[in-house]
Amino acid sequence: MDEVKKPGKPLIYYYVIAMLVLMLFNSLVMPMVARRQIQNVDYNTFVSMLDKGEVGQLQIQKQENRVLFTDKENKTVFKTALVDDPDLVERALSSGASFAGEEIEQMSPVLGFLLSWMLPVLLFVGIGQLLSRRMMNKAGAGSMMFGMGKSNAKVYVKSSSGILFSDVAGEDEAKENLKEIVDYLHNPEKYREIGAAMPKGVLLVGPPGTGKTMLAKAVAGEANVPFFSISGSEFVEMFVGMGASKVRDLFRQAKEKAPCIVFIDEIDAIGQKRDGRIGGNDEREQTLNQLLTEMDGFGGNTGVIILAATNRPDSLDPALTRPGRFDRRVPVELPDLKGREEILKVHAKKIKTAAGIDFGKIARMASGASGAELANIVNEAALRAVRDNRRQAEQADFEESIEVVIAGYQKKNAILTDAEKRIVACHEIGHALVAAKQSASAPVQKITIVPRTSGALGYTMQVEEGNHYLMTKEEIENKIATLTGGRAAEEVCFGSVTTGASNDIEQATKLARAMITRYGMSGDFDMVALETVDNRYLGGDSSLACSAETAAEIDRQVVALVKQQHGKACAILKENRVKLDALTDYLYEKETITGEEFMRILNG
Ligand code: ADP
Ligand code: ZN
Repeated sequence: MDEVKKPGKPLIYYYVIAMLVLMLFNSLVMPMVARRQIQNVDYNTFVSMLDKGEVGQLQIQKQENRVLFTDKENKTVFKTALVDDPDLVERALSSGASFAGEEIEQMSPVLGFLLSWMLPVLLFVGIGQLLSRRMMNKAGAGSMMFGMGKSNAKVYVKSSSGILFSDVAGEDEAKENLKEIVDYLHNPEKYREIGAAMPKGVLLVGPPGTGKTMLAKAVAGEANVPFFSISGSEFVEMFVGMGASKVRDLFRQAKEKAPCIVFIDEIDAIGQKRDGRIGGNDEREQTLNQLLTEMDGFGGNTGVIILAATNRPDSLDPALTRPGRFDRRVPVELPDLKGREEILKVHAKKIKTAAGIDFGKIARMASGASGAELANIVNEAALRAVRDNRRQAEQADFEESIEVVIAGYQKKNAILTDAEKRIVACHEIGHALVAAKQSASAPVQKITIVPRTSGALGYTMQVEEGNHYLMTKEEIENKIATLTGGRAAEEVCFGSVTTGASNDIEQATKLARAMITRYGMSGDFDMVALETVDNRYLGGDSSLACSAETAAEIDRQVVALVKQQHGKACAILKENRVKLDALTDYLYEKETITGEEFMRILNG
């Protein structure tokens, strides 16, 4: 890959510096250079040269008490002291020397002009050309003299060392998603014929270091197309309008090179919600608007596909994620046990390792580590082997380096300790078990205890059966019971509680409150709306529309409702304590459990 560095400051700075240097040159160096060398001779020589008619021009400088003269060709300037010689003028005239009209030690006016004006101008243009050529090479753009506002998109033209999907370990779901795009780039006719348009933009969402950039490069590598890459923050410039012009330029370049992949890293830097705050960031909004316009501007089948990466998808402007723009979202999550093992193996191929390394064990120890961290662990292991003067990295090297890397990252990332992992496993199984035991609830599809982007430590994926717009009172109650199931499991298994249930508590409360204030399911208040929803499309905040006494009564009922469901969940779990423990052990060991495995253990 011939990756090229982006140029630094805009070219205008170079011009200003060139100007300054030339002005200094003209005012300090030129006067010295422009003076011709003067050769000292004695008066006798002067007189004899004069007699032989070898003197061209001549000047008598009385104040300085000297005579300046040149040879016939006017090449060399001579100087001699002025002596009291009354015949000098006459002799000079008769020898054919002429009296110079101007200072003869100055060089000829033509040469002087050339030196002091043409040379600087030539230098000026020369440097400018040089710089702009370098700039052009870098940006890969057409002719440009001034580099301002041009995109710094780095072009990676595909080469034999391009990254392929096989280089990205794990992340099977993401790869599956992106394969369609590769297929489209290979074979656009197939899609065009049927009238299908590829999505213009695909958003890769996931925590840092999970391989989003790698995946984007792999799409370009697999499809054998050019790869443009730019970071969102590079668009945000000091001057309003520059970012927008960069976006324009980037898309112009991309369209010229189509089919191609444009990769925008950290898109949240420009794609944040525009919230109409006073004194908002004008530049960012203009850049975003330009991006939106450009994305609308080209047809779905031009062959330009934009991949963007972010780890804060919630902060993106809704206009950016609507259909026709970044309408496809590919989650790139932290790897699970199997994924971690594969990533370790991929990277371990690049170093020398002893035979029989147990990568499964290393992967288990590095629970919650991202791909980048795993790559780092492998590298640390190799470094440690070198430090000990060994030729190969051994099992102990890997295990030691986990500590180094993870201790370094611990503050930043949620890497679970063993005890925590067990609690999280128990908590998630609690949710699932309560859900499964209440027939009306949806069955579980998959549970993982790999920390998620959202900050949740575990995750229970539930499948909804078919379209489901109406919920009965029982279903909502069951849902609340399921939400309390996580905390209930902690109580049943460990007799203590953790902070891990905060999100559950929030959701359960919301549901219980809505049952009473909005759905008329309380019995006491009948069908009276006690709450109004304000911004249905912007978050859906609600505000109470009732007296203070009613509000207090609502609070009491919400508490009673949640308490009742919490009790129900505890009862279910106590009844199924054996299954709860078996399932927890399984999830703790494997980190992922599918719906089928879950049901097999539950019914087995
Ligand atoms: P992101 O863009 O998501 O922050 P990168 O794609 O830049 O992450 O990945 C950083 C590094 O981590 C890569 O260069 C690679 O060495 C390593 N890495 C991350 N994920 C994987 C993976 N799934 N397989 C192999 N290496 C990975
Ligand atoms: Zn929970």
